[in-house]
Formats: sequence, C-alpha cells, structure tokens
Amino acid sequence: MPRVDWNRLYHQQNIQIFGVNVPQMDLMTDSKGGKNFRAIKLKFSLLDFEIDAVPVRLPVMPVNMTPYLFRDGTLYYKGEALGFENTEISIIEWPRDENPWHLKGYTLPFEGTRNPLRELRLNPNISGYCPGKCSFCHRLYSHRMHPDKKRILSANDLFNRISEMNGPEIFKKVEQVVLITELFGKEDRFLQCVSAIRQELFQRGYPLERVFDCSAQDVRSSSGHKSLVKLVTPKRYCFTLEFFRDRQQLMGHYKGLPLDKVYKILESARNAGFMEIQLNYLAGIDDLDECAKGFQLLASLGLIDSVGLSSFTFFSEEQISCRHKTAWKPSYYLNVVEILKSFNIRVYNPESYDMRNPYSILMDKANDSN
Ligand code: SF4
Repeated sequence: MPRVDWNRLYHQQNIQIFGVNVPQMDLMTDSKGGKNFRAIKLKFSLLDFEIDAVPVRLPVMPVNMTPYLFRDGTLYYKGEALGFENTEISIIEWPRDENPWHLKGYTLPFEGTRNPLRELRLNPNISGYCPGKCSFCHRLYSHRMHPDKKRILSANDLFNRISEMNGPEIFKKVEQVVLITELFGKEDRFLQCVSAIRQELFQRGYPLERVFDCSAQDVRSSSGHKSLVKLVTPKRYCFTLEFFRDRQQLMGHYKGLPLDKVYKILESARNAGFMEIQLNYLAGIDDLDECAKGFQLLASLGLIDSVGLSSFTFFSEEQISCRHKTAWKPSYYLNVVEILKSFNIRVYNPESYDMRNPYSILMDKANDSN
C-alpha cells in the first residue's frame, strides 16, 4: 500500500472548501438564477496508484476568497508552491454554463484520466424544471438557466449520440453505467426511462452483469421498488438523502421529504428485496451532532448499508451560505467518515463521484487513528 501523504490529503480536501484562483480565467457567469462561479476540474494523478480518482470540480474564486492559486501548471497555497511526491496536478477545463456540452445527456466523468472508461454517467433528463429545488444544486446550466424547452432525451437518441461521439464499441468497454439525472417527479416515468436504458445497453453490447445503477429518489412505492429491483445490477437502492437538517427549506417539498417518510420508503425498498440500501450524503451542510444522530437512527433501524459520500462545494455566491459554519475545515470531513465507520456504514465506491475524492484516503486515515 503506497504511503499516504497527509499534507496532500489536507490540501485535496481544503481546496474543495475554498476553491481556487486561476488568473487567466474570468470568474463569474450571469444567469437568470444569479451569479455563478466558473468551474474547472482539478486532477490529482497519484502515480503510486494504478487508477486516477475522478477529477474534482472546483469553483474558480476571486483572489481574496481563496488561499489557492493555480498558475502555469503549479498549485500555490498562500503564495507557496505545493509539491507532492509522485503526484501530478493538472486542470481540465469545464465548459461555461451556457455551453451546449452540458445538454448532451451523458458524461464520462473519468475522461482525461488514466482510466477514462471507468464510468459512463447518463443524465437524459435536462429540463431545468427539476422538482428537486435544491439550493446547493450544481446543475447550474439547467437548474438555474432554465433552458427554454424541456428536454428528455429518448434512450435511443441518447445512445445514438454516445455512439456517434465515442464509437459504438464504447458500450462493450465501459466499466460501469450509472443513471444520475434530474428528478422526474413521477415514479412511472422514471421507471420507464430506466427500463428503456437497460434495454438499449443490452442491445448495444454492455454486459448486464456489470454495474447498472441509478439514483432512484423518484421510486418510492412498494410496487415501484419491486419493479426497480429487477432492473438494476447489483440489487442496490440508491436514495439521495443529502443531509438531515432543514430538508424542506433547502430541497423543497418533493425532494426534502420529512425523515419519517424517508424511513418508510427505505423500509419498502428493503422489503422489495434490495440487498443494499445506499444513501447519498452531502457532507458540509449538517452540524456534526445532527449527522451522528441521523446515521445512528438509520443504522439502528437497519435502513442503511452504505453511503455515497461527497463534499458540498458551492458554485454560486448564494450557495456559500449553505455550508454549515463548522464545515470550513478539512477535519470536519474526516469526522463524518469516522461517524459512518462507528456505525459500520460503508462508503460506496469513494473514487467515483465528483467531489468525492479523496474520501478513500480519508477512510485510511480514520483506520489509522484507531
Ligand atoms: S434533485 Fe438534483 S438536479 Fe434536481 S435540483 Fe436537486 S440537486 Fe439539482
């Protein structure tokens, strides 16, 4: 096991909290929803590891709001160049919010890394009218810009597009497929979409024994769970819990369900035969006590097996206030990992989601401190 560089780890987490200044980039884009920060992806290639984690998406911040600067291929912290052993740091440009690239209906989140086909992520529902009204939403291009026309790509159109842009062999080569899209607001429409995508995957040569996962907040009824369990591999129910506090206020009525309703939904998923219940959790919004109490109760009810963990990163001025006042230090995020560990809750696939890096390494640190 390669030696962990704790200094690098600190900065990998801290830069997600503060963002980075990049001198040659303009800072803001204006949209109907307000002022958004430009974004880049920052890639930490750890040469001791065989694969790269997903590059971290970060806001480009004014110089007086972040201690980090990326210039001419070097990352600086408070004016000092940072150098980490066996690590290459580079940026990948993230298209501006108004770029049609965002509306193509899929991403290859590992593109630009040494393992570009680790995941194909599908997001065919790009309407800008998501019934989730999340104040922290990162889909600024749709959620805040409200494209003039609603668009839900058919599975066939979406797969033709992926094939045209990446070659038809991509479906045989890609390691896992995940559906993470805007909410549909209707369980049956979501399930139809999942079923149509599964069918297309099969026809285009994706081996269905590989992962086909989806973020399934829309599936809430017992009959819906019974249908979904037959469509996904493995039998994992992924529900976007996000956090415990002020749910309705921060996510709106449809997504920010009260916790007692969430428990009933998870119980129904369990009864339908899902072997794993994975709750997606956004660290940085809850106070740590609330986080600990919330997970303790879920664990005691047997309604959680794993957590898809990411760190909250703001991409607009108004989102800055979503972060809890105690969550401005990297140690907060290590505490979240320790809380999960204390209730035997696994962290799912920690290299795989935007902003989730470097949770796998934080988990090692939590192990180390025992
Ligand atoms: S549910 Fe997802 S896409 Fe919809 S507003 Fe919330 S974060 Fe954005």
